[in-house]
Parts: sequence; C-alpha cells; structure tokens
Amino acid sequence: MRRFPLIAALALATALSSPALADEAPAPVAAPQVAPQPAPKLVLAISVDQFSADLFAQYRRHYTGGLKRLQEGAVFPSGYQSHAATETCPGHSTLLTGTHPARNGIIANNWFDPGIARADKRIYCSEDLSDPASTSRDPVVSASLLKVPTLGEWMKRANPASRNVAVSAKDRAVVMMGGHQIDAGYWWKGSAFVTFKGRELSPAVQAQNAAVAKVLKSGAPALNPRPWCGAQDRAIAVGKSTVGTGRFKLEPGAKGDALRISPRMDQATAELAIRLVDEMKLGQGAAPDLLSVSLSATDYIGHAVGNEGVEMCIQMAEVDAAIGKLLAHLDARGIDYAVVLSADHGGLDAPERSNQQALPAAVRVDDALRPDRLAKAITARTGISAKQGPLLYADGASGDFYVNRGLSAQEKDRVIDALVSIARAHPQVAAVYTNGELARMPMPTANAQDWSILDRVRASFDAERSGDVLILLDRAVTPIPEPMPGAYIATHGSVYDYDRRVPMLFWRKGLTPFEQGAPVETVDIAPTLAALVGVKTPDGTWDGRCLDLDGGERDTCAVK
Ligand code: ZN
Repeated sequence: MRRFPLIAALALATALSSPALADEAPAPVAAPQVAPQPAPKLVLAISVDQFSADLFAQYRRHYTGGLKRLQEGAVFPSGYQSHAATETCPGHSTLLTGTHPARNGIIANNWFDPGIARADKRIYCSEDLSDPASTSRDPVVSASLLKVPTLGEWMKRANPASRNVAVSAKDRAVVMMGGHQIDAGYWWKGSAFVTFKGRELSPAVQAQNAAVAKVLKSGAPALNPRPWCGAQDRAIAVGKSTVGTGRFKLEPGAKGDALRISPRMDQATAELAIRLVDEMKLGQGAAPDLLSVSLSATDYIGHAVGNEGVEMCIQMAEVDAAIGKLLAHLDARGIDYAVVLSADHGGLDAPERSNQQALPAAVRVDDALRPDRLAKAITARTGISAKQGPLLYADGASGDFYVNRGLSAQEKDRVIDALVSIARAHPQVAAVYTNGELARMPMPTANAQDWSILDRVRASFDAERSGDVLILLDRAVTPIPEPMPGAYIATHGSVYDYDRRVPMLFWRKGLTPFEQGAPVETVDIAPTLAALVGVKTPDGTWDGRCLDLDGGERDTCAVK
C-alpha cells in the first residue's frame, strides 16, 4: 500500500520528462467514480442451438435485428463449450449453471446404465428415472439428473419473488437452462408447445398453439434468401437426394416437423416468449426475473441440410429477426433488461459439401465403428458374447461405450481391452480412453483453448455415468454413416473447435461496448449474470469466472 504513491509519482515524473508523451498524452488523472448500475429487472438468456463461432463470423456483418444490437454490447467471439461432449444437453447445462458437465452430471444427450432395472438401458438427460412411465425415447421430462442449481434457482433463493421461465423447441434446453424450480417451462412436442406432467398450459401458450395450428393448416410461403446468400444457393448431392437450395415453403396441412425444421420454429418460440412476458409481467415485478429462450431451428436445419447451404443463410436472417422482435417487445414495455446470447455447441457441415470447399479430409464414419459391428469384432477376437442384450451399449459411433453387465469381471476386462485395441487401430479414431484412466485425471486448469483432447474429455466425464470406454473420432469425421437428406446429414459432438467454439454476446442499456477476442468459457456466463443481478453464491459455486461487461470504468463484477 505504501509503495503505491511512490510508483505513481515515478510514473508521472517519467511521463512529464518525456517530450513525446507530454505532447500527445494528457497527464494521468484519477479514474472518475462510476456509480454501479442497479440490478436489471429481467435477465434474458438466449441460446441459439448449434450457432458456432464460425457461423457468427460468417454472418455477423449482415445482421440488422437482434444480433446487430447484441454486437453493440460486450462481444466475446471465442466462447468455449470447453468439454468434449459437444451436444445439446451438456452444452445447455453449462450456460446457466456455470459448471462443466463433469460436475453437473450431464455428460451427453443420452447415456446408458446397463445395470438399471428397466428394459430400456438408455438414459435421456432430462427424464425422470423415478417415474415408471418414462423411457429414453418418450421421457417424463424432469431436471432430476442435473446435479447443480441454475442461475434462476440461485435468484429464487436470493429472492423468492424472482420468476424462472424457460421456453424452447427442445425439452432438454428448457430443463438445463431452467433447472429444478421452473415457474413456467414450455417446449415443442409433435405440433404444439407442451409442459411438465401435471401442469396446465397457460392462456398465453394456448393462444400460441392456436396461432401455430392456423399456420400448419393454411401453409406458409417460401422464405426468400437475402442477396448476400449468393453462391450458397446450389444443389449438393447427398445420398439419393440433394440439399442446399431449400426455401422452407410450408404446404397446407403440413405436419409439425415441417415447421420444426424451419425458421418458423424460432419465430413461434420467440412469439411464445413475448406472450409470456406479458402474461406473467416478467421484468415488471418486485425482484429480477430470468427468461431463458433456446432457439432450436439453427440446429434442426444444420442437421437436416448442413450449415453452408442457402437454407442456413435464410435461417441466419430469420433468427436475427426473431430475436430483434423479442428485444423490441421488451423495449416497448419499458423493461430494464440484460441479455446474453450464446450456444450449446457449434457444428460441422455435411462432408459432401465440405469436400468441394477445401476440406477433402471430411468423411463419413466407417461402418466398422458402429457399436454392433464393434461388438461382433470383439466376439470374434475373444469368444465372449452377452447372454442377454447387446455386448456393447452406445449411442453411435463415438463417445461412451458400455459393456453388458451380465459378464464376469474377467470377461468385462477382456472386452474392454479388445474394444480399446480395435478402436485404437482404426484410422478414423483420434483417441480412446477407459473410465479408469479418466477417473485418475485431474480437471484441467489451463485456458480452454489450449486443452488437450484428454482435458476436454475429462471436463464432460462422470465416473458413474460415463462409459467403460470413450472413443473420439478424428477431425472432420461425421459420425453419421448413412445420411438422410432433409432429416439428418450433418452433426456436432466432436472434441474439435468447430463444435466447441461459440459466440458469447452480452448487452444492456448504458454499458460501454467492447469486443474481447481472448477466449472465454460458457461457464463464465452464470457468474457474470449473478454479479449483474447482485446474487451472491458460496465460494466454489462456479467453474467459470465473472466477466466485466462494461468496457469503460464501471466494473459489473464489483460486489454490490
Ligand atoms: Zn444443440
């Protein structure tokens, strides 16, 4: 403390003794006292599903709506979903819990418990295992598998008058952003928004469902690409069909899926959020409220037709408009709100188009890595097979692999050894780890940008829930052996930055805007927003850190 005036005096003397500095720079002055802003009345947390940092970089100059506004705030173009399991459920679990999947337990969209009593050994990340009616494919939706509270729950603990509301096309996005105590949560199922078992749809949701039903009945016109979509409007052969030239025309009497895999899904979700703001008077009560909005259409479109065709170009303009409409509504209501926008993961385009676009390494996964084919190869090598059920349980050609529990301990070890050896020898496999190896690893502490593959895997590893073996594919290997154009041709889920890097944009009226290119993490979002709303949590609550959202003298992380 005593040394500081001396150093300051020396700095001042140096500045004054330098003619160049004395001419060009004003003498240093004490920083003005900047009053902290009061807590916002509403926190709006937006997730754009599968919105990679690459998509943001490609389209950011074209935005004119909500995504233009958010670029006038605190812009972090390199946000990291740091972990390996770059899927929707783990990704959404990091956004508002401030914790990695290794801690919050959400290690994948689906994992397996070969020892579970029910016939369905697959576990869906947001299902209620205690409800006998629940299956992984038709889940009773619940946050019971999420091991930590969300920001909305911390806000409610600090002030029970705070409301915690979440909407999305996906139940898992609602549950992972909202958490265990959700005042209102709605997601899409079939052709309408639905809610938790035992709850009623509010009049706002009924009105939104009626509006959607009308559109499905009457159909809706094609959506035209903006002029800047240019050469993206080009047919690419994938399987027996083509992608790249779609316009999202909705035929009269269309099924719910035609709307779901289109920009109209995001419009409907944003409209529902707007209706709920008015119905619940969000941001107009005694305590700050949290509204989570996860917009799923970017992901559905990315999976169905890839992310470099005209369809994604249309979607990028439409999602920008949908977000703009939501922000304009909050403005019109005079609500003091803060916004964060990020994503649950990025994505990779279909290999058929990537091959034409300077990425010859892009391929589809070899059939030999399918779980059933691997099991056959193991049986051929060891003579071991399962008496009941498959030898291996897995949700695809990469990620967690579980060995049937009907084997002896010795047989299980031999199966694991064989699987590791067969997978490691495959030219499309980047790394293979066993549960035991990962359990001995400490959590990484370096900058997420510099993490090894092992570090990334560790951050979404849970010794009880993760597989006996984890298989990670090479860069640009798409784990979809048989593409289905219009439904499923491209994906995410890899350990690479095209799936890990996402934008993180914050905006609030009155903040000094800035852009910070240094990498940050999505687990930083919750501590950042907690500080903004003045909610204190016990030491060690977060895996991330508070980001100061004011580019000027004000510090939004300062204790209020
Ligand atoms: Zn997703």
